[in-house]
Amino acid sequence: MIRWILYAIAVLLIGLGFLYFMASYYEPMRLIIGSVFLVTAFLIIFFAREKKPKEIVREPQILGPLKIKEIRCPNCGAILDADSIHLHEGVPIAKCKYCGKSFGVTEEPTW
Ligand SMILES: [Zn+2]
Repeated sequence: MIRWILYAIAVLLIGLGFLYFMASYYEPMRLIIGSVFLVTAFLIIFFAREKKPKEIVREPQILGPLKIKEIRCPNCGAILDADSIHLHEGVPIAKCKYCGKSFGVTEEPTW
């Protein structure tokens, strides 16, 4: 909700910035004011957007303390411990130490 207000302000500032750019024909100082408006607008957009990546960053934290209760090898049915799981390109891969089969681990939410 707040993000949309910030976007509205940014759009307004961009509009004002362009107005000042057009008016700079009569007064060159307006070019500076216009660029200040534009820079402020882009900063607002940048900070309003920043919230999204933060949510993505949270994912590794879920993987961090591995809360794997019981992972069974789909090949031989052996129960694997956390030591046999490693990250491969961000995807947890488990390697069975009994039959040597590698498979992707789909972490189910524990809550
Ligand atoms: Zn196995």
